[in-house]
Amino acid sequence: MAFPDWNPEHDAFRATVRRFTEQEIRPNVDRWREQGFPDELFRKAGALGLLGIRFDPKWGGSGLDHWYTVILVEELMRGRDAGATVGLLVQCEMATSVIDAHGSDELRREWLVPAIRGERIAALGVTEPGGGSDVAALTTSARREGDEYVIRGGKIFITNGARADFVTLAARTGDSGAGGVSMLVVPTDRPGFEVGRRLRKLDLHSSDTAELFFDDVRIPARYRIGEEGSGFRYIMRAFQSERLVLSTMVNALCRDVIGETLAYLSERTAFGRKLASMQVWRHRMADCLTDLEASELLAYRAADRLVAKDPRAEVSVSMAKLYAAEMVKRVVPECAQAFGGYGFMEENYVARCSQGVQNWGVGAGTSEMMREILAKRCIDPRG
Ligand SMILES: Cc1cc2nc3c(=O)[nH]c(=O)nc-3n(C[C@H](O)[C@H](O)[C@H](O)COP(=O)(O)OP(=O)(O)OC[C@H]3O[C@@H](n4cnc5c(N)ncnc54)[C@H](O)[C@@H]3O)c2cc1C
Repeated sequence: MAFPDWNPEHDAFRATVRRFTEQEIRPNVDRWREQGFPDELFRKAGALGLLGIRFDPKWGGSGLDHWYTVILVEELMRGRDAGATVGLLVQCEMATSVIDAHGSDELRREWLVPAIRGERIAALGVTEPGGGSDVAALTTSARREGDEYVIRGGKIFITNGARADFVTLAARTGDSGAGGVSMLVVPTDRPGFEVGRRLRKLDLHSSDTAELFFDDVRIPARYRIGEEGSGFRYIMRAFQSERLVLSTMVNALCRDVIGETLAYLSERTAFGRKLASMQVWRHRMADCLTDLEASELLAYRAADRLVAKDPRAEVSVSMAKLYAAEMVKRVVPECAQAFGGYGFMEENYVARCSQGVQNWGVGAGTSEMMREILAKRCIDPRG
């Protein structure tokens, strides 16, 4: 049996996303690299039902599973704008899945429904200037005052941060440590909320990445998502989908880059021969294809276990994220080298991809954190 075992429904969904990517993303990437992608993209994706594929149909979602998330990411990445893909996936997975899973019906109606339609833009605020890996140590506080929370602190590296209508925020409502963290919906039109620097990145140019400040921002207590003190647990659960998304993005990027490189090797001649006939390039590309295949299979295995709610899903997701983040650092520079001087020119897609390889081992949990999780889950320190 083929793995994944794609069925006609998967194929139909893939065709829908492919059309969307070809019409709405691919023709615009050069402009968006300079200007950022427009807010309108959220509305267009929402109108097509792409922003709530795993969410409850009661709120406008499609009630589908992680396989559809994989397809969505694979097809969006064909647009060659990883920044737009990240922006959309923050909207439909990273910043909203916790509201779908744990929010009250009132919260879902007010924030999830318009986010699924692409009418309100969402950001996820976890990382702080003082650190991102150690989520349990975050210091942004949400102090309870009567029927309100008063929020004070700052976040950094927040995707969609400069344009968000609301931030799904991790804040400290209790004592130090994981048990004192809660998740809150914070509308960005409240007094005391401010967007700081729009950070310039080495890649993903079309997405916005911002510093956010909260200076005694008041929100109603009913904007808390789920139980007080359960935020850390919610974030860790949501990270599983985020990490699958990131792994899939990397794999799709590498498949595209390898395809582009193979085409170039078949065209380009040196010393009277096609590069594709030279054993060194044939072997290097064989290595790249093998590395990619391994990475894809790990990600598909992770999706399979997430869908099956298999307790080993976290191990598979962490392996998939770790492997993809390291694989891209081997594969993309190797491919860029095949282009010679063109592999250093901004006009060349493969060259541009090689600028950002480091990033994939950072977002949604660093490679070191993936190794920590795997060591904890798989290695008994007593031997
Ligand atoms: C493009 C981009 C978009 C992002 N979007 C968002 C977003 O939308 N929302 C959001 O909340 N965050 C976002 N982030 C932040 C991202 O999640 C963090 O950068 C990441 O979690 C790492 O946190 P940090 O940068 O503070 O590094 P730190 O936690 O300070 O770590 C620094 C280094 O030390 C290593 N390290 C830390 N602890 C250990 C340990 N115990 N053992 C070994 N090594 C360790 C890390 O792996 C890393 O290499 C984004 C980041 C990027 C680059």
